[in-house]
Amino acid sequence: MAQKTVKDSSEKIIEPFRLFGNVYFIGTYAESSHIIDTGEGLIMIDTGRDNLGAILKGLETFGYSARDVKYIINSHWHGDHTASTREMAEMSGAKTLIGKDDYEKAKRYFDADILVSEGDTLTLGNTTVTFMGTPGHTKGTISLFFDSEDNGQVCRVGMFGGAGANTLAKGKFDYEGCREDYRKSVHRLLGEKVDVFIGNHSWNNMTYENSLILRETGENRFIDPTAWTKFLESCERKLDETIAKDAF
Ligand SMILES: [Zn+2]
Repeated sequence: MAQKTVKDSSEKIIEPFRLFGNVYFIGTYAESSHIIDTGEGLIMIDTGRDNLGAILKGLETFGYSARDVKYIINSHWHGDHTASTREMAEMSGAKTLIGKDDYEKAKRYFDADILVSEGDTLTLGNTTVTFMGTPGHTKGTISLFFDSEDNGQVCRVGMFGGAGANTLAKGKFDYEGCREDYRKSVHRLLGEKVDVFIGNHSWNNMTYENSLILRETGENRFIDPTAWTKFLESCERKLDETIAKDAF
């Protein structure tokens, strides 16, 4: 679930922007949504709960329409990532994907067409997305990786599909064993090389701050092979803090 307050999201407006290569951010501060232009249609990553207006505006900003969206990847079942997926799928005709262990819980928002497991791939046009099962935040959380090219520079793009420690606190568990799974998932993700880290929420990778720098100076701080590692290490610290807090 969203961890930031409505106050934050109303103060920080993220204008749609091209993040790197064929990757665009079209979400809001509270709820991230990205699109990948594969040359043969768009892959959307997460829709959000209240984002439909922002998403449609973002698509239009870059000359796309809802009909260009061919697939909607849902990182995990929570409504702040998926509540608009049904409507977006109806408008676009896109196929919807979710991690297989989140399928049942996601049904309150949409009925996924494609269930994703560890190692599965999705190819459209020039892009192949590879999925990793990273349970913890929810049982079916999926992380994803793909290559993107910008002006001859090829970067590996990655997203941790559910990083929040909010479901790791006592009484908030998505399922039993989530803490152990979360730590394992973070360790597996640390083994991945990621040049461009895209946030499952904007505060994961400073989407807002870095988008302003990109817009104002042209400097792209999203290209940073250390950002991924630093973020994952902070995730493990948050897990440890959550466990320590519950021990009292
Ligand atoms: Zn969540």
